[in-house]
Amino acid sequence: METVTPFKEAIDEIKENGADAAKFCYQCGKCDTVCPWNRVRTFSMRKLIREATFGLTEIEHEEIWRCTTCGLCAQQCPRDVKQIVNMVALRKFATGYGVFPAAVKSVRTVTANLVADGNPFGEARTKRADWAEGLSVKTFAEGMEVLYFPGCYLSYDPRLKKVAVATVNILNKAGVDFGILDPKENCCGESIRKTGNESLFKHLARENIKTWIENGVKKIVVSSPHCYHTFKNEYPEEFKVNFEVIHIAQYLFELINEGRLSISKEYGKKITYHDPCYLGRHNGIYAEPRETLKKIPGLELNEMAESRENSLCCGGGGGRIWIETPKSDRFSNLRLEQALETGAEVLVTACPYCITNFEDSRIVLNYDDVIQVKDITEIIQEVI
Ligand code: SF4
Ligand code: SF4
Repeated sequence: METVTPFKEAIDEIKENGADAAKFCYQCGKCDTVCPWNRVRTFSMRKLIREATFGLTEIEHEEIWRCTTCGLCAQQCPRDVKQIVNMVALRKFATGYGVFPAAVKSVRTVTANLVADGNPFGEARTKRADWAEGLSVKTFAEGMEVLYFPGCYLSYDPRLKKVAVATVNILNKAGVDFGILDPKENCCGESIRKTGNESLFKHLARENIKTWIENGVKKIVVSSPHCYHTFKNEYPEEFKVNFEVIHIAQYLFELINEGRLSISKEYGKKITYHDPCYLGRHNGIYAEPRETLKKIPGLELNEMAESRENSLCCGGGGGRIWIETPKSDRFSNLRLEQALETGAEVLVTACPYCITNFEDSRIVLNYDDVIQVKDITEIIQEVI
């Protein structure tokens, strides 16, 4: 792995974006008005931008780790200030100097785990495909239609392994010729990049691309919007030339429309759909999951007040999934309340971080019997 030299890059980014911010940010505070942090505590992106512009930001401070990179403020900013780029640049400084405030110390452990085992949990690489035991899943071989890339959470997390199983059952039912890469799969690197660790991100990206080339991969189906985003928008040009990436929510829509997957059962429940930030705001994928769900007879889909472009972040982006957030500060608690306001019995989404946070909120709020949380594949699995 290359040496950690984040400083030059971070300085250039702060100069470029900081200079932009100095020129364009007129401190209107719109970012603070829309930022979900201000629903649970006081937080000012406006102030951080001002401080970054004038080189006054304290990198030891927990505040530079708050932004979940949800993209809501960037969408609303009248001056096109690059809030996320600025925050990641500050984290590059902090990561480069090894400065992690107590609240974000877990990032150190996650980093070490990613280096050693290619996943954030510190689980053995050899156990990466244990979830597929007993299922009809092949190891990917050249000439197969698609590579299924479940990602770290679906590979190791007990709740999310169920989503990997649902996905495989659907792909098999649709007759898709697919395989997985077993222990050769590495974390996509998206979230560690947002903690400012560019060199580890590049290392993980390089390893993945090398494996895909060696194995003749052409099309990759992913379950996580974070994998989707980074493969599509952050991996080097080499990726874009050689591979196609599709999120499972899009792929389900495609398979149903091509007649390869048929819905044969009813789902008589009221649901609402939560747009993950990295599927919706960052990549504009709003229609396919909704259109897929609407094809299910008996299902009633009601929208939350904040949906699509205005979706409320679950709190897990930007590396925050690895940082303990006090119960009173969790956006996911608010989102669960919004889901209940629609009368939903099931909150459906399409992201492992969202599911992790919503499941935690169900426990915190004692909503076990009140609302269920499901991935879109878990719904489809029940109706085919
Ligand atoms: S919304 Fe944009 S212009 Fe307004 S304070 Fe925030 S960064 Fe500055
Ligand atoms: S990207 Fe989201 S979390 Fe970060 S400052 Fe903007 S609104 Fe807040």
